[in-house]
Amino acid sequence: MAVAAPLAGQVALVTGASRGIGAAIACELGQAGATVVVNYASSAEAAAAVVNRIEAAGGSAWALQADVADEAQVDSMVKAVLERDGRLDVLVNNAGITRDGLVMRMKTADWQSVIDLNLTGVFLCTRAASRAMLRARQGRIINITSVVGLFGNAGQANYSAAKAGVIGLTRSNAAEFAGRGVTVNAVAPGFIESDMTAELDQEPILKAIPLGRMGRPEEVAGAVRFLAADPAAAYMTGQVLQVDGGMVMR
Ligand code: NAP
Repeated sequence: MAVAAPLAGQVALVTGASRGIGAAIACELGQAGATVVVNYASSAEAAAAVVNRIEAAGGSAWALQADVADEAQVDSMVKAVLERDGRLDVLVNNAGITRDGLVMRMKTADWQSVIDLNLTGVFLCTRAASRAMLRARQGRIINITSVVGLFGNAGQANYSAAKAGVIGLTRSNAAEFAGRGVTVNAVAPGFIESDMTAELDQEPILKAIPLGRMGRPEEVAGAVRFLAADPAAAYMTGQVLQVDGGMVMR
């Protein structure tokens, strides 16, 4: 018999959940029964709207501001989750930014800010959350990388390097945590409709996608729900699940 709420009684922290893919993941995990902590950087109203959406659907959620690139803020965020909810079962490292440009002209600050948030931020959140998960001998960490972390992209050296780094981090953490029942997997989206991709010229992009369209945030959220659920993904760790309309077939 299908389990209606596979994450009932669990607590899930989703970083960058005020908009786009993170908001869809938060709603999906809320629907799966988890209490969802909706992290955001500056969009307090949008984060509150995500909380309202989850509660209106019968779920439970609350919003928590923190910059995931800031060590002290990350440690306080995880502490606040444990103090309020008493546990942390699922961490989704979703927050991310782009600062695109050709390497020749890329400012060091644009390189650094993307590495700090998209890669070091994943490390900081994982380190903070894993302490509780390893103690509890259970947990799911799901990192949102990108297909450009697999094959690179002109004009996105900083972003591609960070996302490739997230894949290395995913596999290393998976190996470190496996003995204590904590799995670590990544989801690699292709081009998904969100604020991040709103300005892109879609014509050349669509030609490179066998399914012929951009993905929807809900389609990434479905993969995250699968990786968070028991027993569906209990025997998977260190894997990268592509949600890209067939863009990268290896
Ligand atoms: P988005 O619409 O631009 O949303 C970004 C989210 O990250 C927002 O909730 C934002 O919060 C949050 N954020 C930004 N800086 C933060 C910080 N310092 N601390 C905490 N949160 C922060 O992006 P998206 O398209 O949904 O992308 C989500 C993830 O998927 C990213 O990791 C991205 O790299 C990855 N991805 C996206 C695509 C795509 O096609 N869209 C493809 C592959 C991978 P505020 O609202 O408060 O600013």
